[in-house]
Amino acid sequence: MKVVVLPGDGIGPEITAQAMRVLGEIAPGAETEQRLFGAQAIRETGTPLPDDTVAACLAADAVLKGPIGDPEFDAADVRPEQGLLRLRAELGVYANLRPSRADGIDLLIVRELVGGLYYGASGVRDDGSAFDTCEYSPAQIERIVRRGFELARSRGGRLTSVDKANVLETSRLWRRVVRGLAPDYPDVAVEDMLIDNAAMQLATAPGQFDVIVTENMFGDILSDLAAAVTGGLGLAPSASLSDTGPGLFEPVHGSAPDIAGQGIANPAGMLLSMALLLEHGLGRPGEAAGLAAAVERAIVEAPTPDLGGQASTEEFGDTVLSALAVHI
Ligand code: NAD
Repeated sequence: MKVVVLPGDGIGPEITAQAMRVLGEIAPGAETEQRLFGAQAIRETGTPLPDDTVAACLAADAVLKGPIGDPEFDAADVRPEQGLLRLRAELGVYANLRPSRADGIDLLIVRELVGGLYYGASGVRDDGSAFDTCEYSPAQIERIVRRGFELARSRGGRLTSVDKANVLETSRLWRRVVRGLAPDYPDVAVEDMLIDNAAMQLATAPGQFDVIVTENMFGDILSDLAAAVTGGLGLAPSASLSDTGPGLFEPVHGSAPDIAGQGIANPAGMLLSMALLLEHGLGRPGEAAGLAAAVERAIVEAPTPDLGGQASTEEFGDTVLSALAVHI
């Protein structure tokens, strides 16, 4: 088993250190290899995603990534985020899974990750106007919607497909593809929901959802909203999967430059991303469940300042490690 680790920027290295301690405990035989990515890579190599980092990721069983980004590069021509879009495309990780759990809520957002508005033609014209283009092919929609149906089948058996079919052509295609696939999954109850209604329902009655499948930008916004209603961004993990190659596992939050270097970042999102890596990347669902339970315990016993507590990043990691002894 080989895991490529991209610690990233800001709080990235601090929370990655806790994930490495945990992986060493759970899977001492796993080989890990750290690589440059993000703002630090721009400083050292001039590019956010050096070619040898791409090659190492493609040759791994899974990639664990910390957040990237630095205010220094926010308006620069070469930005860390460009590297992230390229990495997702290089790995072909079209299916972004973002689980959210809290009292009475257990939902999974399945977001299309390598198409739509974030990957279409864009530019600024001579007259100063700007444009971005949203485009989807039937095949791109079919593979992500099938993922959604299959994940719904393995969970509560309910799938909500979110679109804006009353306005957008791509959404009308999306809806036709969903309807075409539904007969293949007679055990899954599927419904269509417009994005504006879905946002309202997620904010006011999140317990109604099981699996939500949607396109890139809608999924980006809905998954942050889902994280917010279930405890905040600091806790939210994600898995980005292709059909055959290594998956990319990363917390949803950014590099938090305002608290970087203080040793107080919450590593829960990173550790829960490690749990997704164990489950989907290394095929170890038992250890994944044990780690998720240990993180739940640390959130209660050793909360970091963002959760209203006083524990340091390291103390949170200590608590997870001692809880692991019980849960695994
Ligand atoms: P952010 O998520 O970094 O921070 C938002 C707020 O949440 C801050 O107050 C921060 O201190 C807090 N926070 C975030 N994660 C935390 C954690 N683990 N523990 C405790 N507090 C935490 O969002 P931002 O400030 O909008 O972005 C900062 C940088 O991160 C930008 O450069 C942005 O582009 C980048 N970013 C990267 C990713 C990624 O790598 N996937 C995602 C989002 C943002």
